Amino acid sequence: MPSKVVIVGAGPVGALAGLYAAQRGMDVEIYELRDDLRLSTAVPLNYTKSINLTLSERGIQALKHSGRNSLVDDILNKTVPVHARMVHGKNKTKLTTSRMAYDIKKEALHVIDRAQLNKSLLHGLSSFPNVRVFYNHKLASLNLKEKVATFKDTSVKDAEDNNVHKVNFDLIIGADGAYSVTRYHLSRYTKLSINQSWLDIYWCEFAMPKGHGLPLDCLHLWPQKDFMFIALPDKEGTFTCNLFASESIFKSLKSSGKIVEFFHEHFPGVTPGLITTESLQGQFLKNNYFPLMDIRCSPYHYGDSCVLVGDAAHAMVPFYGQGLNTGLEDHYIKAAALGSTGSSAEPMEALLQQYTQFRQPDVHVINNLALKNYHEMRRGVLTISYKVRKLIEETLCLYVPQLGWATQYRNVAFTTMRYTEVAEKVEKQGLILQIASVMIFAFMAIAFFWVTLLVLGSNPAVPSLPMIFA
Ligand SMILES: Cc1cc2nc3c(=O)[nH]c(=O)nc-3n(C[C@H](O)[C@H](O)[C@H](O)COP(=O)(O)OP(=O)(O)OC[C@H]3O[C@@H](n4cnc5c(N)ncnc54)[C@H](O)[C@@H]3O)c2cc1C
Repeated sequence: MPSKVVIVGAGPVGALAGLYAAQRGMDVEIYELRDDLRLSTAVPLNYTKSINLTLSERGIQALKHSGRNSLVDDILNKTVPVHARMVHGKNKTKLTTSRMAYDIKKEALHVIDRAQLNKSLLHGLSSFPNVRVFYNHKLASLNLKEKVATFKDTSVKDAEDNNVHKVNFDLIIGADGAYSVTRYHLSRYTKLSINQSWLDIYWCEFAMPKGHGLPLDCLHLWPQKDFMFIALPDKEGTFTCNLFASESIFKSLKSSGKIVEFFHEHFPGVTPGLITTESLQGQFLKNNYFPLMDIRCSPYHYGDSCVLVGDAAHAMVPFYGQGLNTGLEDHYIKAAALGSTGSSAEPMEALLQQYTQFRQPDVHVINNLALKNYHEMRRGVLTISYKVRKLIEETLCLYVPQLGWATQYRNVAFTTMRYTEVAEKVEKQGLILQIASVMIFAFMAIAFFWVTLLVLGSNPAVPSLPMIFA
């Protein structure tokens, strides 16, 4: 087992990596590009208010396995439970809403501000004497053969490079997010396949003040064919909202300034009812919009010296609310591969190899599901077929649990079932439902045919049944 672990990035995934390694008695050093988030002067990620994230079962279980129960309680206390999706629309005369519970067994997603979560994890790290966190330190170079990393202290301006530090390690963990520099260096040592897709989906954040009258236990959704507006509750009773749309829509709205007209036409009731027109306009002018991307790579490791986790290994679109949860779960899976006590007899290289082999197919599945859910959130949830399938699967889940049926959403968000297993189950259940519906349709057609024949048979003007079949 490595005795000294260096972690690049103190985001939520890097901070949890630190807790796992510290708990196992390793000497941990974490290097973070930005300042300590807990300081009022720190610039948050993306330069706007930090995003709201939904923590679900995988993320929560991974936090629990860090062994810091009080930390997990503290984090959960900062969350808002969300039990349902509320779809907003308008008919000819009035605004409409329809509430759809996420889960028949009343499980909830837990919404938390990213910065709050990150701060709690950093706070948890500070209780370990074997952990040191270096803020304003940027990974500059990495030699994975000699196991030496170079970090630049960005708080010190020095033309002579006196602000550059060489650090030795046994294992380096790249938790430096979607634009990972660790991943770049890893690619120089191993045949790293990287698939990075930029999607024509951008997001922009808006704040909804108190006084909205919306239920706080819902994710509110205003779906449209090609874009959507969502609102997630904050602990303070406000909402943090996101507009997701293509770049051309954002560009035309920025140039025309017709954001209020756009909202009037497509997101009924939002303005001026929930956000004043002045505020909506002001926020849109002030806040930037950001692209979403999908990153997949393999392998996640090199020899026994480097491993990628979180967005550095697999960034995904946020529509299944699983990016962070998958990143946190990486640690649990990795710890299981390495042996929970850290005393596995297998060489580290073989264990990291096992980790890549085990994790990569699961991550591939959730990246795909997250992309698919963008369509589902805008159109799918409104279709009859979606509602009927949900009703059947939830009824079986509740009343015939021995069959093991559940919705895809339940298995992804409220269990820790492997994503590949979820996909297999969904396919199997879908096939059974298709066969069942074909059989029901065939049965109904035969029944209709027989009834018609019977009616015709009772009419003396037409041949009787035996005559037809004679
Ligand atoms: C709009 C939106 C909504 C989302 N909603 C959800 C959701 O509801 N649920 C969910 O599970 N996920 C959600 N996600 C995804 C989630 O935000 C990410 O998966 C998660 O933040 C990844 O955490 P991370 O620690 O791996 O990376 P990051 O959060 O990106 O943290 C990386 C850290 O590394 C540091 N760093 C970067 N480069 C260097 C360097 N060279 N040297 C040192 N440090 C460095 C950065 O400063 C940062 O602190 C959402 C994402 C978006 C954009």
